[in-house]
Amino acid sequence: MTERLYYTDAYLRAFDARVVDRAADDRTLYLDRTAFYPTSGGQPFDTGTLAGIAVTDVVDEGERIAHVLAAPAPRDIQTVSGIVDWSRRFDNMQQHTGQHLLSAIFADRFELNTVSVHFGATSSTLDLDEEFVSQKTLLAAEDLANLAIAEPREVSVYFESAATATGLRKAAPREGDLRIVDIASLDKSACGGTHVRTTAEIGALLIRGTEKVRKTTRVEFVCGLRAVRAARADHELVTTLAQTLSVAPGELVAKSKLQGDELRAAQSARREAATALDGYRARERFDATTPDSAGRRLFIERRPGAAPDALNELRALAQATIALGDALFVGTLESPPTMVVASSVATLDAGAALKKILVEHGGRGGGNARIAQGTVPTPSALDTAVAAATALP
Ligand SMILES: [Zn+2]
Repeated sequence: MTERLYYTDAYLRAFDARVVDRAADDRTLYLDRTAFYPTSGGQPFDTGTLAGIAVTDVVDEGERIAHVLAAPAPRDIQTVSGIVDWSRRFDNMQQHTGQHLLSAIFADRFELNTVSVHFGATSSTLDLDEEFVSQKTLLAAEDLANLAIAEPREVSVYFESAATATGLRKAAPREGDLRIVDIASLDKSACGGTHVRTTAEIGALLIRGTEKVRKTTRVEFVCGLRAVRAARADHELVTTLAQTLSVAPGELVAKSKLQGDELRAAQSARREAATALDGYRARERFDATTPDSAGRRLFIERRPGAAPDALNELRALAQATIALGDALFVGTLESPPTMVVASSVATLDAGAALKKILVEHGGRGGGNARIAQGTVPTPSALDTAVAAATALP
Protein backbone atom coordinates (compact mmCIF):
# COMPACT_ATOMS: atom_id res chain seq x y z
CA MET A 1 0.00 0.00 0.00
CA THR A 2 1.43 3.37 -1.00
CA GLU A 3 1.22 6.16 1.57
CA ARG A 4 -0.20 9.18 -0.23
CA LEU A 5 1.79 12.12 1.08
CA TYR A 6 -0.25 14.60 -0.98
CA TYR A 7 -3.32 13.73 1.10
CA THR A 8 -1.90 15.53 4.13
CA ASP A 9 0.54 17.94 2.47
CA ALA A 10 -0.35 19.14 -1.02
CA TYR A 11 2.68 21.47 -0.88
CA LEU A 12 5.28 18.70 -0.57
CA ARG A 13 7.48 18.94 -3.66
CA ALA A 14 10.45 16.71 -2.70
CA PHE A 15 10.47 13.43 -0.78
CA ASP A 16 12.48 10.26 -0.21
CA ALA A 17 10.90 6.84 -0.47
CA ARG A 18 11.74 3.16 -0.46
CA VAL A 19 11.27 1.10 -3.63
CA VAL A 20 8.94 -1.77 -2.67
CA ASP A 21 8.26 -3.24 -6.10
CA ARG A 22 9.05 -2.71 -9.74
CA ALA A 23 7.88 -3.93 -13.15
CA ALA A 24 10.07 -6.45 -15.00
CA ASP A 25 11.29 -3.73 -17.40
CA ASP A 26 12.34 -1.46 -14.49
CA ARG A 27 10.31 1.39 -15.98
CA THR A 28 7.53 1.26 -13.38
CA LEU A 29 8.32 1.76 -9.70
CA TYR A 30 6.15 1.19 -6.63
CA LEU A 31 7.16 3.12 -3.50
CA ASP A 32 6.23 2.92 0.19
CA ARG A 33 5.14 6.56 -0.02
CA THR A 34 4.77 9.23 -2.68
CA ALA A 35 4.02 12.90 -3.26
CA PHE A 36 3.15 12.20 -6.90
CA TYR A 37 -0.55 12.62 -7.59
CA PRO A 38 -2.00 9.92 -9.88
CA THR A 39 -4.70 10.72 -12.43
CA SER A 40 -7.99 10.57 -10.51
CA GLY A 41 -11.13 12.55 -9.80
CA GLY A 42 -10.61 14.35 -13.11
CA GLN A 43 -7.26 15.84 -12.00
CA PRO A 44 -4.24 15.01 -14.20
CA PHE A 45 -1.20 13.16 -12.80
CA ASP A 46 1.96 14.91 -11.65
CA THR A 47 5.20 14.91 -13.59
CA GLY A 48 8.71 15.38 -12.20
CA THR A 49 11.60 13.02 -11.51
CA LEU A 50 12.32 9.89 -9.48
CA ALA A 51 16.03 9.16 -8.96
CA GLY A 52 16.65 11.80 -11.61
CA ILE A 53 14.55 9.96 -14.21
CA ALA A 54 11.53 11.74 -15.71
CA VAL A 55 8.11 10.52 -14.53
CA THR A 56 5.81 10.19 -17.57
CA ASP A 57 2.66 8.82 -15.90
CA VAL A 58 1.33 8.14 -12.40
CA VAL A 59 -1.43 5.55 -12.14
CA ASP A 60 -3.74 4.90 -9.22
CA GLU A 61 -4.05 1.10 -8.94
CA GLY A 62 -6.20 1.25 -5.80
CA GLU A 63 -3.95 0.02 -2.99
CA ARG A 64 -0.78 1.28 -4.61
CA ILE A 65 0.43 3.88 -7.05
CA ALA A 66 2.49 3.10 -10.17
CA HIS A 67 5.19 5.58 -11.25
CA VAL A 68 5.98 5.18 -14.94
CA LEU A 69 9.48 6.35 -15.89
CA ALA A 70 10.95 7.62 -19.17
CA ALA A 71 13.91 5.20 -18.77
CA PRO A 72 14.57 2.04 -16.70
CA ALA A 73 15.56 2.64 -13.06
CA PRO A 74 18.92 1.14 -11.94
CA ARG A 75 18.44 -2.47 -10.77
CA ASP A 76 20.13 -2.08 -7.37
CA ILE A 77 18.31 1.09 -6.34
CA GLN A 78 16.62 0.73 -2.91
CA THR A 79 15.61 4.29 -2.13
CA VAL A 80 14.75 7.16 -4.42
CA SER A 81 14.38 10.91 -4.16
CA GLY A 82 11.31 12.29 -5.86
CA ILE A 83 10.81 15.83 -7.14
CA VAL A 84 7.36 16.95 -8.26
CA ASP A 85 7.16 19.43 -11.17
CA TRP A 86 5.76 22.22 -9.06
CA SER A 87 4.50 24.59 -11.75
CA ARG A 88 2.31 21.83 -13.23
CA ARG A 89 1.09 20.64 -9.83
CA PHE A 90 0.34 24.13 -8.49
CA ASP A 91 -1.50 24.99 -11.71
CA ASN A 92 -3.64 21.84 -11.24
CA MET A 93 -4.28 22.80 -7.60
CA GLN A 94 -5.47 26.24 -8.71
CA GLN A 95 -7.85 24.81 -11.34
CA HIS A 96 -9.15 22.16 -8.93
CA THR A 97 -9.81 24.55 -6.03
CA GLY A 98 -11.31 27.05 -8.47
CA GLN A 99 -13.75 24.35 -9.55
CA HIS A 100 -14.82 23.70 -5.92
CA LEU A 101 -15.36 27.44 -5.46
CA LEU A 102 -17.30 27.96 -8.71
CA SER A 103 -19.46 24.85 -8.17
CA ALA A 104 -20.28 26.04 -4.61
CA ILE A 105 -21.32 29.50 -5.87
CA PHE A 106 -23.47 28.06 -8.67
CA ALA A 107 -25.18 25.75 -6.16
CA ASP A 108 -25.69 28.23 -3.29
CA ARG A 109 -26.60 31.33 -5.26
CA PHE A 110 -28.24 29.94 -8.39
CA GLU A 111 -29.41 26.43 -7.45
CA LEU A 112 -27.29 24.97 -10.24
CA ASN A 113 -25.66 21.69 -9.28
CA THR A 114 -22.44 20.38 -10.79
CA VAL A 115 -22.89 16.89 -12.20
CA SER A 116 -19.39 16.33 -13.60
CA VAL A 117 -16.03 18.06 -13.96
CA HIS A 118 -13.04 17.77 -16.26
CA PHE A 119 -9.59 19.34 -15.90
CA GLY A 120 -7.89 19.84 -19.26
CA ALA A 121 -4.44 20.90 -20.36
CA THR A 122 -5.55 24.42 -21.30
CA SER A 123 -8.96 24.85 -19.69
CA SER A 124 -11.34 23.01 -17.41
CA THR A 125 -15.08 22.43 -17.48
CA LEU A 126 -17.93 21.71 -15.11
CA ASP A 127 -21.38 20.54 -16.19
CA LEU A 128 -24.43 22.15 -14.55
CA ASP A 129 -27.76 20.30 -14.30
CA GLU A 130 -29.64 22.89 -16.36
CA GLU A 131 -30.01 23.19 -20.14
CA PHE A 132 -29.88 26.98 -20.21
CA VAL A 133 -27.78 29.25 -17.99
CA SER A 134 -28.03 32.98 -18.72
CA GLN A 135 -25.06 35.22 -19.42
CA LYS A 136 -26.16 37.32 -16.43
CA THR A 137 -25.86 34.29 -14.12
CA LEU A 138 -22.44 33.40 -15.53
CA LEU A 139 -21.10 36.93 -15.03
CA ALA A 140 -22.54 37.14 -11.50
CA ALA A 141 -20.98 33.75 -10.59
CA GLU A 142 -17.64 34.87 -12.03
CA ASP A 143 -17.78 38.07 -9.96
CA LEU A 144 -18.67 36.18 -6.76
CA ALA A 145 -15.85 33.69 -7.33
CA ASN A 146 -13.31 36.49 -7.73
CA LEU A 147 -14.67 38.25 -4.64
CA ALA A 148 -14.18 35.03 -2.65
CA ILE A 149 -10.64 34.84 -4.06
CA ALA A 150 -9.93 38.41 -2.95
CA GLU A 151 -11.39 38.04 0.56
CA PRO A 152 -9.73 35.39 0.81
CA ARG A 153 -11.16 32.22 2.40
CA GLU A 154 -9.23 29.44 4.06
CA VAL A 155 -9.25 26.04 2.37
CA SER A 156 -8.72 23.21 4.84
CA VAL A 157 -8.42 19.48 4.42
CA TYR A 158 -9.30 16.95 7.14
CA PHE A 159 -10.61 13.44 7.57
CA GLU A 160 -14.06 12.71 8.92
CA SER A 161 -16.16 9.56 9.24
CA ALA A 162 -18.86 9.24 6.57
CA ALA A 163 -21.26 8.22 9.37
CA THR A 164 -20.93 11.54 11.22
CA ALA A 165 -19.98 14.02 8.46
CA THR A 166 -22.60 16.73 8.02
CA GLY A 167 -23.07 19.59 5.58
CA LEU A 168 -21.49 17.81 2.60
CA ARG A 169 -22.46 19.29 -0.77
CA LYS A 170 -22.96 15.82 -2.16
CA ALA A 171 -23.88 12.68 -0.22
CA ALA A 172 -20.85 10.75 1.05
CA PRO A 173 -19.53 8.64 -1.86
CA ARG A 174 -18.67 5.70 0.44
CA GLU A 175 -18.48 4.53 4.04
CA GLY A 176 -15.48 4.90 6.35
CA ASP A 177 -13.17 7.90 6.56
CA LEU A 178 -13.78 10.69 4.08
CA ARG A 179 -11.22 13.27 3.03
CA ILE A 180 -13.04 16.58 3.36
CA VAL A 181 -12.03 19.72 1.45
CA ASP A 182 -13.57 22.72 3.19
CA ILE A 183 -13.74 26.29 1.88
CA ALA A 184 -14.56 28.37 4.97
CA SER A 185 -18.32 29.00 5.27
CA LEU A 186 -18.83 28.13 1.61
CA ASP A 187 -18.23 24.52 0.71
CA LYS A 188 -17.63 21.10 2.19
CA SER A 189 -16.92 18.32 -0.28
CA ALA A 190 -15.41 14.85 -0.10
CA CYS A 191 -12.46 14.89 -2.51
CA GLY A 192 -9.11 13.14 -2.94
CA GLY A 193 -7.45 15.80 -5.09
CA THR A 194 -4.85 18.45 -4.32
CA HIS A 195 -5.99 21.97 -3.43
CA VAL A 196 -4.48 25.33 -2.53
CA ARG A 197 -4.65 26.38 1.16
CA THR A 198 -6.50 29.65 0.63
CA THR A 199 -8.77 30.89 -2.14
CA ALA A 200 -6.27 33.75 -2.66
CA GLU A 201 -3.91 31.24 -4.28
CA ILE A 202 -6.48 30.51 -7.01
CA GLY A 203 -5.33 33.92 -8.23
CA ALA A 204 -8.25 34.66 -10.56
CA LEU A 205 -11.12 32.81 -12.18
CA LEU A 206 -12.30 33.51 -15.70
CA ILE A 207 -15.30 31.86 -17.38
CA ARG A 208 -14.49 31.31 -21.05
CA GLY A 209 -17.82 30.12 -22.42
CA THR A 210 -20.61 27.58 -22.30
CA GLU A 211 -21.79 24.70 -24.41
CA LYS A 212 -25.03 22.77 -24.24
CA VAL A 213 -24.25 19.10 -23.67
CA ARG A 214 -27.35 16.87 -23.62
CA LYS A 215 -29.46 18.13 -20.67
CA THR A 216 -26.60 20.09 -19.06
CA THR A 217 -24.69 23.30 -19.57
CA ARG A 218 -20.91 22.85 -19.79
CA VAL A 219 -19.07 25.85 -18.33
CA GLU A 220 -15.45 26.32 -19.42
CA PHE A 221 -13.19 28.18 -16.98
CA VAL A 222 -9.53 28.94 -16.26
CA CYS A 223 -7.78 29.94 -13.02
CA GLY A 224 -4.47 31.50 -11.98
CA LEU A 225 -1.89 32.16 -14.68
CA ARG A 226 -4.16 30.45 -17.20
CA ALA A 227 -6.65 33.31 -16.68
CA VAL A 228 -3.90 35.87 -17.27
CA ARG A 229 -2.69 34.05 -20.39
CA ALA A 230 -6.23 33.74 -21.75
CA ALA A 231 -6.89 37.46 -21.21
CA ARG A 232 -3.52 38.26 -22.79
CA ALA A 233 -4.27 36.09 -25.84
CA ASP A 234 -7.66 37.82 -26.22
CA HIS A 235 -5.98 41.21 -25.99
CA GLU A 236 -3.38 40.28 -28.61
CA LEU A 237 -6.11 39.00 -30.91
CA VAL A 238 -8.14 42.19 -30.58
CA THR A 239 -5.01 44.33 -31.10
CA THR A 240 -4.03 42.38 -34.24
CA LEU A 241 -7.56 42.62 -35.62
CA ALA A 242 -7.67 46.35 -34.92
CA GLN A 243 -4.31 46.86 -36.66
CA THR A 244 -5.45 44.79 -39.64
CA LEU A 245 -8.57 46.92 -39.99
CA SER A 246 -6.74 50.17 -39.12
CA VAL A 247 -9.10 51.17 -36.32
CA ALA A 248 -8.91 51.57 -32.55
CA PRO A 249 -9.96 48.38 -30.65
CA GLY A 250 -13.12 50.17 -29.45
CA GLU A 251 -14.20 50.71 -33.07
CA LEU A 252 -13.83 47.07 -34.12
CA VAL A 253 -17.49 46.09 -33.86
CA ALA A 254 -18.73 49.14 -35.76
CA LYS A 255 -16.00 48.67 -38.38
CA SER A 256 -16.71 44.98 -38.99
CA LYS A 257 -20.44 45.70 -39.21
CA LEU A 258 -19.73 48.45 -41.75
CA GLN A 259 -17.47 46.14 -43.77
CA GLY A 260 -20.17 43.48 -43.74
CA ASP A 261 -22.69 45.99 -45.10
CA GLU A 262 -20.23 47.15 -47.77
CA LEU A 263 -19.49 43.56 -48.79
CA ARG A 264 -23.17 42.73 -49.14
CA ALA A 265 -23.73 45.88 -51.22
CA ALA A 266 -20.75 45.03 -53.45
CA GLN A 267 -21.97 41.46 -53.94
CA SER A 268 -25.40 42.70 -54.86
CA ALA A 269 -23.94 45.21 -57.38
CA ARG A 270 -21.70 42.49 -58.82
CA ARG A 271 -24.69 40.17 -59.28
CA GLU A 272 -26.62 42.94 -61.06
CA ALA A 273 -23.66 43.66 -63.34
CA ALA A 274 -23.23 39.94 -64.06
CA THR A 275 -26.90 39.64 -64.96
CA ALA A 276 -26.67 42.65 -67.27
CA LEU A 277 -23.52 41.22 -68.85
CA ASP A 278 -25.24 37.86 -69.34
CA GLY A 279 -28.05 39.69 -71.10
CA TYR A 280 -25.63 41.38 -73.54
CA ARG A 281 -23.68 38.16 -74.04
CA ALA A 282 -26.88 36.25 -74.67
CA ARG A 283 -28.00 38.80 -77.25
CA GLU A 284 -24.59 38.79 -78.97
CA ARG A 285 -24.40 35.00 -79.17
CA PHE A 286 -28.03 34.67 -80.15
CA ASP A 287 -27.52 37.01 -83.10
CA ALA A 288 -24.29 35.25 -84.10
CA THR A 289 -25.84 31.77 -84.02
CA THR A 290 -27.46 30.40 -87.13
CA PRO A 291 -30.88 28.85 -86.53
CA ASP A 292 -31.81 25.45 -87.95
CA SER A 293 -34.46 25.05 -90.66
CA ALA A 294 -37.22 25.32 -88.05
CA GLY A 295 -35.75 28.59 -86.67
CA ARG A 296 -34.36 27.04 -83.46
CA ARG A 297 -30.95 27.85 -81.98
CA LEU A 298 -28.73 25.62 -79.78
CA PHE A 299 -26.41 27.02 -77.08
CA ILE A 300 -23.86 25.12 -75.00
CA GLU A 301 -22.25 26.88 -72.03
CA ARG A 302 -19.73 24.88 -69.96
CA ARG A 303 -18.44 26.68 -66.86
CA PRO A 304 -15.87 25.69 -64.21
CA GLY A 305 -17.78 27.15 -61.22
CA ALA A 306 -19.64 25.63 -58.30
CA ALA A 307 -23.14 26.02 -56.84
CA PRO A 308 -24.83 28.11 -55.59
CA ASP A 309 -23.47 31.43 -56.97
CA ALA A 310 -22.27 30.11 -60.34
CA LEU A 311 -25.49 28.13 -60.68
CA ASN A 312 -27.59 31.26 -60.20
CA GLU A 313 -25.55 33.04 -62.87
CA LEU A 314 -25.84 30.10 -65.26
CA ARG A 315 -29.62 29.99 -64.79
CA ALA A 316 -29.80 33.75 -65.40
CA LEU A 317 -27.87 33.36 -68.67
CA ALA A 318 -30.11 30.43 -69.68
CA GLN A 319 -33.24 32.48 -69.07
CA ALA A 320 -31.83 35.53 -70.83
CA THR A 321 -30.96 33.34 -73.85
CA ILE A 322 -34.31 31.59 -74.30
CA ALA A 323 -36.13 34.91 -73.86
CA LEU A 324 -34.69 36.03 -77.20
CA GLY A 325 -36.44 33.49 -79.43
CA ASP A 326 -36.74 29.74 -80.08
CA ALA A 327 -33.72 28.22 -78.36
CA LEU A 328 -32.34 25.27 -76.41
CA PHE A 329 -29.73 26.15 -73.81
CA VAL A 330 -27.52 23.49 -72.18
CA GLY A 331 -25.16 24.70 -69.46
CA THR A 332 -22.86 22.88 -67.02
CA LEU A 333 -20.87 23.45 -63.83
CA GLU A 334 -17.95 21.37 -62.57
CA SER A 335 -18.66 20.99 -58.87
CA PRO A 336 -20.81 19.09 -58.33
CA PRO A 337 -21.29 17.97 -62.00
CA THR A 338 -24.41 20.01 -62.75
CA MET A 339 -26.51 20.56 -65.85
CA VAL A 340 -29.04 23.28 -66.63
CA VAL A 341 -31.42 22.81 -69.56
CA ALA A 342 -33.63 25.67 -70.72
CA SER A 343 -36.01 25.62 -73.67
CA SER A 344 -38.27 28.09 -75.42
CA VAL A 345 -39.05 25.60 -78.16
CA ALA A 346 -42.78 24.90 -77.88
CA THR A 347 -42.39 21.19 -78.56
CA LEU A 348 -39.52 20.68 -76.10
CA ASP A 349 -40.31 20.46 -72.38
CA ALA A 350 -37.01 21.17 -70.55
CA GLY A 351 -38.09 19.53 -67.29
CA ALA A 352 -39.34 16.31 -68.90
CA ALA A 353 -36.33 16.06 -71.23
CA LEU A 354 -33.79 16.58 -68.44
CA LYS A 355 -35.56 14.14 -66.16
CA LYS A 356 -35.21 11.40 -68.81
CA ILE A 357 -31.49 12.14 -69.28
CA LEU A 358 -30.84 12.20 -65.52
CA VAL A 359 -32.47 8.80 -65.05
CA GLU A 360 -30.18 7.37 -67.75
CA HIS A 361 -27.10 8.88 -66.10
CA GLY A 362 -27.83 8.12 -62.44
CA GLY A 363 -28.48 11.76 -61.66
CA ARG A 364 -31.20 13.69 -59.87
CA GLY A 365 -33.01 16.97 -60.32
CA GLY A 366 -35.98 18.54 -62.05
CA GLY A 367 -37.71 21.74 -63.06
CA ASN A 368 -40.46 23.10 -65.28
CA ALA A 369 -41.09 23.20 -69.01
CA ARG A 370 -38.81 26.22 -69.57
CA ILE A 371 -35.88 25.55 -67.22
CA ALA A 372 -34.60 22.56 -65.25
CA GLN A 373 -31.42 21.58 -63.46
CA GLY A 374 -29.85 18.43 -62.05
CA THR A 375 -26.63 16.77 -60.95
CA VAL A 376 -24.93 13.59 -62.15
CA PRO A 377 -22.41 11.47 -60.21
CA THR A 378 -19.26 12.05 -62.31
CA PRO A 379 -17.70 14.48 -64.83
CA SER A 380 -17.81 11.78 -67.54
CA ALA A 381 -21.52 11.22 -66.90
CA LEU A 382 -21.92 14.98 -67.35
CA ASP A 383 -20.20 14.80 -70.77
CA THR A 384 -22.53 12.12 -72.11
CA ALA A 385 -25.56 13.84 -70.53
CA VAL A 386 -24.64 17.03 -72.41
CA ALA A 387 -24.27 15.06 -75.64
CA ALA A 388 -27.76 13.59 -75.07
CA ALA A 389 -29.25 17.00 -74.30
CA THR A 390 -27.80 18.73 -77.37
CA ALA A 391 -29.28 16.00 -79.57
CA LEU A 392 -32.77 16.83 -78.29
CA PRO A 393 -34.29 19.13 -80.95
ZN1 LIG B 1 -11.22 18.57 -5.04
